[in-house]
Amino acid sequence: MAAKEQTPPRGPSPPKPRNKAAAAARREARVRQLWQRLVLIALCVVVIGIVDLRARVYRQEQGLTENDGYFVRDDVGAGEDVPVQSTPEPVERVAYTGIVENIVIRPLIAYPELAFDGDDQEASMDAWHLTVSEYKKLLESLYNNGYVLVYAPDLYEETTDAYGRAVMTPRELYVPKGKTPLILNFDDFYTTSMRENGTVYKLILDENGEFASWGLDPQGQEVVSYELDAITILEAFIAEHPDFSLDGARATLGLSGKEGILGYATQSASPTRTAEIQAVEPVIHALLYNGYTFAYHSYGHFDFSQQTAEAVQQDVDQWLSEVGSLVGETTLVSYPYGGRLDNSGQAMSYLLGKGFRVFQSMGIESYVNLTEGLPIVNMDRLHPDGQTLRWNRDIYLDFFDAKEIFDYDVRPDLGYDFE
Ligand SMILES: [Zn+2]
Repeated sequence: MAAKEQTPPRGPSPPKPRNKAAAAARREARVRQLWQRLVLIALCVVVIGIVDLRARVYRQEQGLTENDGYFVRDDVGAGEDVPVQSTPEPVERVAYTGIVENIVIRPLIAYPELAFDGDDQEASMDAWHLTVSEYKKLLESLYNNGYVLVYAPDLYEETTDAYGRAVMTPRELYVPKGKTPLILNFDDFYTTSMRENGTVYKLILDENGEFASWGLDPQGQEVVSYELDAITILEAFIAEHPDFSLDGARATLGLSGKEGILGYATQSASPTRTAEIQAVEPVIHALLYNGYTFAYHSYGHFDFSQQTAEAVQQDVDQWLSEVGSLVGETTLVSYPYGGRLDNSGQAMSYLLGKGFRVFQSMGIESYVNLTEGLPIVNMDRLHPDGQTLRWNRDIYLDFFDAKEIFDYDVRPDLGYDFE
């Protein structure tokens, strides 16, 4: 029976036309309505498309992705012409559980003729520093080899283990598919003692609020430049390659204190301390705003492994008072000379009490150790410099080829282990 039943027509029956003229009028009205709707829908699609495009280009300019980031700037993006061809495709992110690579570089040799002038500092400038040309090639190589800068303070968090002890654990890290996260450190930048050996003197902001370096050239002339310093060169590189920075991450600046910071004589012994602090504050704010962060590099630039606990306590107190008071809180320590503290020693527990958690030394690989039962992350950093360019090409091949970046034109003739 049921099979024979006719299925009733779905939906209301169409109204029966009373006459032909009325039916034609209704058809016309319906067509007009349909056209109006189509036009409206088309307009909406165009408007949404423009808004979405602008948002995506803005995010790309800021080095952000669909998953958002930490350093959303609100002073750009509005009222600018948007080049259609630069629309980025959405980037797929994947969980990263491997080692986060970590490198440190030291002040760039802006004027090789001052670094390699035969004085008693020449060997040390050659061993521990890169020239501007080498650094530019380094950034290119890192980028081409799939590295992406990450923000060091976000990588670990303090939690409690099964015994109720404070420990450090890695936070989930999502990176664009195929990319390798990299922590970039700049230690000892703008220290006054290197000026006569060819580094720039200080980091400044130009009249547009952009980073620039200030210094004297070998003839003693003042030079404001965007081409001689690690930060200005990095900024230009990221402007060109926004995907080199994850969520706006930049570098960690390891600061000591006895020679001031960032090229400004902010140390307590300085007669111009107050004015220097006023001058450096906008630079600090610009650095923080742009994704840089700071690390305790000892006040007196000493080897921690050679210090008494009392000396370390005194040092960190002075650093917090003279440097930490300017740059804000940090959990990061960069050990000068790579000499590390004993995890269970008195000096370490004092630093833990001051909020430090991540302790970066130097080594032949990007090593990370999460200490059992203590909130300590110990890390080793690779260190691209004259010494490793000359003698450790193999160790660094995943990052760059020393043979291709070595500055043959200016470095002294001290040999290297490649053809
Ligand atoms: Zn140092």
